[in-house]
Amino acid sequence: MIIDCHGHYTTAPKALEDWRNRQIKGIADPAAMPNASDLRISDDELRESIESNQLRLMKDRGLDLTLFSPRASFMAHHLGDFNVSSTWAAICNELCYRVSQLFPDHFVPVAMLPQSPGVDPATCIPELERCVREYGNVGINLNPDPSGGHWTSPPLSDRHWYPVYEKMVEHDIPAMIHVSTSCNACFHTTGAHYLNADTTAFMQCLTSDLFEDFPTLRFLIPHGGGAVPYHWGRFRGLAQELKKPLLQDHLLNNIFFDTCVYHQPGIDLLATVIPVDNILFASEMIGAVRGIDPETGHYFDDTRRYIEAAAMLNETARSKIFEGNARRVFPRLDALLKARAAAPITEPS
Ligand SMILES: [Zn+2]
Repeated sequence: MIIDCHGHYTTAPKALEDWRNRQIKGIADPAAMPNASDLRISDDELRESIESNQLRLMKDRGLDLTLFSPRASFMAHHLGDFNVSSTWAAICNELCYRVSQLFPDHFVPVAMLPQSPGVDPATCIPELERCVREYGNVGINLNPDPSGGHWTSPPLSDRHWYPVYEKMVEHDIPAMIHVSTSCNACFHTTGAHYLNADTTAFMQCLTSDLFEDFPTLRFLIPHGGGAVPYHWGRFRGLAQELKKPLLQDHLLNNIFFDTCVYHQPGIDLLATVIPVDNILFASEMIGAVRGIDPETGHYFDDTRRYIEAAAMLNETARSKIFEGNARRVFPRLDALLKARAAAPITEPS
């Protein structure tokens, strides 16, 4: 089985974006603020938006299942206040849940949180609870910088975030550490801000003792871990200077990396440097990089090809990357798949 642990609903019907634009207008002009109930998207529209996009490509590439979360760049936690984020997160999470109900064999939902700059992350807990208990979400996306590129929140190691971690531990769900749109002109959203955040999150964990407080907390750092695997020697050296344990013991029971690296040498480096138990297959399809690589003739984000071609991986390692590690890091996914294997469901054709 091939599990893609990083997919967003980037192809939602246009009505969603239109509603969001009205909501953004309503921030300045409360009389124009739409109600959540003004947004109507039919099951047929959802089906069409998935069948012609993500599901078509999954079938082309031989991917079985995607962990599916709301479009990351649209989370835009920096816009409006908690109520704005709360309504928006509820709408986006419900759509991903509906997709998972329409295509239960292919999509399992992961939640965005209604974060807002300067607001206590504990306010996100009701939405987190709803998504886990009612929608069967197996993980969350946690934005370490709800300000959108200005980094006004404390580091992930700060007690500020502990209420969310306590809930994650209670429900045994991991968080993908995933920022949203950059509103800082210095940082391109997907080319700089995303990768900066991946690297920053790792270093925040390295300098802290967060995982002594939460030994079972799990973070998935996307986009191949940003600059982390490439600079692994620097991070090992910094940990040594800081008198921290070896990274293997200090961080690698809790931090995992995905394979959203869009060329063979990058995947080869990831698979050489990072232990295979810490690598989860992902493509972030359909995402930031949608074109075909003229050097290979294949889509940049067709990451399965790189895993298959990585000479340092054997079949056991590939099986862990494609399936085993995701089932270990997302225990609720594992439980769901086991329950389904015992009592198969039929996906409507
Ligand atoms: Zn993403």
